[in-house]
Amino acid sequence: MKELQEKIKQYGTILPGNVLKVDAFLNHQVDPELMFKVGQEFAQLFADEGITKVWTVESSGIAPAVMTGLALEVPVIFARKHKSLTLNQNMYTADVYSYTKKTTNRISISKKYVDPNDRILMIDDFLANGQAVEGMLEIADQAGVDVAGAGIVIEKSFQPGAQELKARGIRVESLARIKSLTDGKVTFMED
Ligand code: 5GP
Repeated sequence: MKELQEKIKQYGTILPGNVLKVDAFLNHQVDPELMFKVGQEFAQLFADEGITKVWTVESSGIAPAVMTGLALEVPVIFARKHKSLTLNQNMYTADVYSYTKKTTNRISISKKYVDPNDRILMIDDFLANGQAVEGMLEIADQAGVDVAGAGIVIEKSFQPGAQELKARGIRVESLARIKSLTDGKVTFMED
């Protein structure tokens, strides 16, 4: 998505550890017009998949996920993150290691909002090592729901997440694919 690439080039900054900071339009301040277009794009890509719900993980996935839900006219669930390891019978849970924060969070989705006939589209802001998406897949597995694929705003293609998911037969659609963040420069796969 050209406009997204332009925004990344204009506002993205590179932090140590191959972390791309996009606080100007996605991770702190949110550009609603851009997110609206992101949602339309995912909706178009997955239009024929019979999606009944969009799932994401709080908090940075919420903006693109809500816009996707709006375009697909389906509800959006954001998995909640907990530090504590409390178990709750009314929740599906999975443990997710955070690449940027170097901590493990338990993510959970209430059984109340899961229908066994659901067909899920997973949305996230970034895909790096694939832990967040793996967590959602684990919950989908527990719940016995179908997964149509993952829509990712920014894929860091030099990290293994996308390839590992694709190797398992998961459809992954990324709107910007980053080849490298070396020498203080963002290089896209298409560059
Ligand atoms: P993964 O679980 O695929 O390893 O990492 C994805 C999650 O980590 C995303 O939900 C995102 O919040 C965070 N993340 C991973 N890499 C980056 C990055 O370069 N920049 C930002 N802002 N977040 C990242």
